[in-house]
Amino acid sequence: MTSRKWKVESFLPALLAAVLISACAINPVTGKRELSFMSEAQEISVGRELDAQVRQEMGLYEDEDLQRYVQDLGMRLASRSQRPNLPWSFAVVDSPAVNAFALPGGFIYITRGILPYLDNEAQLVGVLGHEIGHVTARHSAQQYTRGMGASLGVLVGSIFVPEVRPFADLAEGGLGVLFLKFSRDDELQADALGAEYTA
Ligand SMILES: [Zn+2]
Repeated sequence: MTSRKWKVESFLPALLAAVLISACAINPVTGKRELSFMSEAQEISVGRELDAQVRQEMGLYEDEDLQRYVQDLGMRLASRSQRPNLPWSFAVVDSPAVNAFALPGGFIYITRGILPYLDNEAQLVGVLGHEIGHVTARHSAQQYTRGMGASLGVLVGSIFVPEVRPFADLAEGGLGVLFLKFSRDDELQADALGAEYTA
C-alpha cells in the first residue's frame, strides 16, 4: 500500500503542472501569460447567462432612442479595443442606483440613476470606456480564477462587479449576489484603457 501511495504522489507535480499550463492564457491587453480558468468562450457563455438575469431582474430603461445611443457609442469604443470581436452590448438598466458595471464577454450596463451625473457625451464615453477596459483586461475572468478555491457564491459574485467609484457607496443587492469590487490596480488599468479608447 505504501509503495502505491508513493507512486500517486510522484505523479502529482506533473499533474499540477499540466493543469497550470492548460489554465494559462494570454492577456489581450498586456500580452502576458496569466493563470486563467476561464476561456474566452466561457467568458461569453457566463456573460450571456448573467446578461439574461440582469435584463430580467433589473429590467431595461424604457427609452429606445437612449438605448440605441448608448449601444452605438459603446460599439464605437469597443471596436477600437483589443477585443473588437466580443459580442459587445451596452444597455441602460432601470435602476435608481448610481452605477455602471461589466460582465465577462462584453456585456456592459449603466443605470438610469447615473444619467443625471453625466453632463455630456464625453463623460458617458469615459464611463463606457472604463467598463470596456475591465472586460478587455479580463478582470472578471481573473477574479473568477482567484475565486476557484473559494465557495461558489464568491465565484458567482466575483463575476458581477458593480462600479460604484467615483459615486459614493450606493451598492444595490438587486440580483442577490455577493458584490466584490475590483482591486485598485484593476481600476487604474481600466481608467488607462478607457482613456486610450476614448482618444
Ligand atoms: Zn472600474
